[in-house]
Amino acid sequence: MKHYRNYVNGKWVESPRTFEDISPVDGSQVAIVHEASRELVDEAVKAGHQALAGEWGRTNASQRVAVLRRIADEMERRQDDFLAAEMADTGKPHAMASTIDVPRGIANFRMFADILATAPLDSHRLDLPDGAYALNYAARKPLGVVGVISPWNLPLLLMTWKVAPALACGNAVVVKPSEDTPGSATLLAEVMEAAGVPPGVFNLVHGFGPDSAGEFISRHPDISAITFTGESRTGTTIMRAAAEGVKPVSFELGGKNAAIIFADCDFKKMLDTMMRALFLNSGQVCLCSERVYVERPLYERFCEALVARIKAMKIDWPNDPATQMGPLISAKHRDKVLGYFELARHEGATFLAGGRVPYFGDVRDEGAWVEPTVITGLGDDARSVREEIFGPICHVSPFDTEQEVIARANDTRYGLAATIWTSNLGRAHRVSEAMRVGISWVNTWFLRDLRTPFGGAGLSGIGREGGLHSLNFYSELTNVCIRIDEEARDV
Ligand code: NAD
Repeated sequence: MKHYRNYVNGKWVESPRTFEDISPVDGSQVAIVHEASRELVDEAVKAGHQALAGEWGRTNASQRVAVLRRIADEMERRQDDFLAAEMADTGKPHAMASTIDVPRGIANFRMFADILATAPLDSHRLDLPDGAYALNYAARKPLGVVGVISPWNLPLLLMTWKVAPALACGNAVVVKPSEDTPGSATLLAEVMEAAGVPPGVFNLVHGFGPDSAGEFISRHPDISAITFTGESRTGTTIMRAAAEGVKPVSFELGGKNAAIIFADCDFKKMLDTMMRALFLNSGQVCLCSERVYVERPLYERFCEALVARIKAMKIDWPNDPATQMGPLISAKHRDKVLGYFELARHEGATFLAGGRVPYFGDVRDEGAWVEPTVITGLGDDARSVREEIFGPICHVSPFDTEQEVIARANDTRYGLAATIWTSNLGRAHRVSEAMRVGISWVNTWFLRDLRTPFGGAGLSGIGREGGLHSLNFYSELTNVCIRIDEEARDV
């Protein structure tokens, strides 16, 4: 059996306390994971500060650009291992992990190397009344030891999205992957070692949230900042802990995203993309749509076409290259999603598709599978229409006017993403800008330029990451102001 150990100060550390890493495909055991103690998290934080006081703290931007590129090259060399680890932990289809999770994980290091290599810094000249002037420029310095706490849905992609810019800016990190997906993070630690990243710069601690590594990081007095992706409720707990030391936080949290489909859209392109927006990663992408609003003339046609596409979907073994949907992440999460199916029934929803656990007649019946599900007929106040479910389920309802749909889409405490489908240019601009979200897509979904600001409004997060926005979060900027006097002249 494989063992996933902690990686602290350049050493692999076992723990007397272990837990099982379970495959959601069939409930089998993938690995034994060594849970970090409070003392080990202390050691990791200390190692980070030592690294900052040593060789790593003296690196310049060009040297760190080279380190990031070495990490990306080593990840690329081991991409098959990453693919296997990610699929074993999550059960996600090969078609997804090989085109999104692993390549994007590698791209995060390359992209932040490029961003750092070309990043401009503020510089301002201020002319003074007496003829002198002041020259201001910003110096970018690391924050210190950054705590990185990540979720299970896109484990490698979301972890590297934070680790890469944190290292680019010269920080040390203490990283805690989700307890459900410890595999790719452990491989990343191996990559750090092979790429020659100095001890203490990248520390990996395994464990859970409360009373475990997650809490130990977020409450640690010597952690300088916390970057977190996960549920909004967990964000609240972490923010409370971070308030103690007035620590900077960057939060990417939950969503209840709207899709708005106007009758003048390109129907085929819309339907192809909406199948992804609803069911990619079994609906476990924070950006997936769970509320679909369709202009009334198109409503019946959309519902029929969606159900027909769902019937043709291949829900199967992750290794089958044709598989479109795998299981949910865990039995616990499946029970939560099934609880929402039950709630929707109780609230009076009509099920157009799904709503049950699929039957395979083999070991997969021990896994965490649910059917792709479409419900209709609920009011906007129903809990299943308001709360994030994070599974392959959406509620579809008709609308009549642009004003109405904008108000309904924005009637949520979340504010992560929207996807809008129309061929009317003016309407595309009007509606996408009116969305109270971090990202509005028009005639597309999940198309990401990594230089752009990414984050959420309301319960969906705090701050923006991506490109320079990430560099600004992971740096302390010191403005240097120099007064330059007129040359003294002899009289
Ligand atoms: P989660 O909040 O349960 O867990 C995320 C991480 O936080 C895990 O590593 C977990 O161990 C840790 N954690 C849990 N409780 C903690 C505590 N009290 N203190 C410190 N750490 C703690 O989230 P999840 O179930 O892993 O992920 C799914 C959620 O993530 C969904 O809500 C989804 O929308 C959100 N998400 C958001 C984005 C985004 O970019 N906005 C991206 C992906 C996922």
